[in-house]
Amino acid sequence: MEQTIVVGGGVIGLTTAVVLAERGDTLVRVWSRDPEPETTSAVAGGLAWPYRIEPLDRATDWAVRSFRHFSWLAEQPAETGVRLVRGEMAEGGDPVPEEWRALVGSPPRTPLIDMRAYLPYLRARLEKAGGVYEQRAAGSLTEAAAEARAVVNCTGLGARTLVPDPGVRAVRGQVVVVENPGVEEWYVATDEGAAGESAYLLPQPYGLLLGGTAEDGAEDTAPDPATAEAIIRRCARIRPEVAEAAVLEHRVGLRPFRPEGVRLEAGTLPDGTPCVHNYGHGGAGITVSWGCAVDAAALVGPAGS
Ligand SMILES: Cc1cc2nc3c(=O)[nH]c(=O)nc-3n(C[C@H](O)[C@H](O)[C@H](O)COP(=O)(O)OP(=O)(O)OC[C@H]3O[C@@H](n4cnc5c(N)ncnc54)[C@H](O)[C@@H]3O)c2cc1C
Repeated sequence: MEQTIVVGGGVIGLTTAVVLAERGDTLVRVWSRDPEPETTSAVAGGLAWPYRIEPLDRATDWAVRSFRHFSWLAEQPAETGVRLVRGEMAEGGDPVPEEWRALVGSPPRTPLIDMRAYLPYLRARLEKAGGVYEQRAAGSLTEAAAEARAVVNCTGLGARTLVPDPGVRAVRGQVVVVENPGVEEWYVATDEGAAGESAYLLPQPYGLLLGGTAEDGAEDTAPDPATAEAIIRRCARIRPEVAEAAVLEHRVGLRPFRPEGVRLEAGTLPDGTPCVHNYGHGGAGITVSWGCAVDAAALVGPAGS
């Protein structure tokens, strides 16, 4: 059996599958329990910035390597959904790694990714390279192993039950999309209170995305109206015109956070099939996706090995 099965079709699974398929692995299949628009990846704001991810030194390395690939994708924004956009990271929030600061410059200019366009782009790129996307839930990793030479586990929060890994937990994020009243640069203030409240404005082609929250351990995916109002209020302190903007959408996603750190390592399933784990990317899965995908593919090893 020459095929490789990547379990998980969010940004981590799709990017890993693209790297495997484009290097020439025989048949790369993605199994995704949820359709693309229902993944956490589809909810994300899409700013490339290392945030709520551990360990920070490894994440910075992945983020720097991913930045280079995103910069290349930004040369074709209409096709990829990736743009390089200038913005402001307010002082007083999470520490910014020096290497990252030097890379993005001052004022920072970093990739801003429209996930509604980008996930379909990744999927099309996978299929062009001969890979296959299937909407299918794995009851266990061994179920995938029965059909593959190697399995890559990119199930995000799903790893909690699939591995099982009780060390992965949800960090709930709620955002509001409003009609953009003319905001062209992004703004982020991650100066959070106890409830993980921040203020960010990300100008996307489909509207202005306002955030946000980071509620550790909360798993309710229904948008909370009071939380939405508070988000709009916080963002209106930065851009008052936001208070009057028409609300287009409310969204909630559960970040797959692993306090111990992203799990990116090779293992073996009970039936002896090699399995590479690539999950637990918290609040920065998009930011680190290409660096992690290249490292995960290296751990899978070339087909025929
Ligand atoms: C509000 C919000 C804003 C965010 N903003 C940003 C941002 O600006 N920048 C950034 O870098 N990150 C951001 N993030 C974080 C980012 O969304 C995540 O880190 C990233 O999406 C994780 O990707 P993933 O592929 O691991 O997980 P997911 O997107 O959750 O994908 C997991 C996949 O595994 C599949 N799966 C699970 N179990 C099974 C199973 N048993 N069988 C088959 N398939 C299975 C699912 O169906 C899905 O396809 C944000 C998150 C939220 C909630």
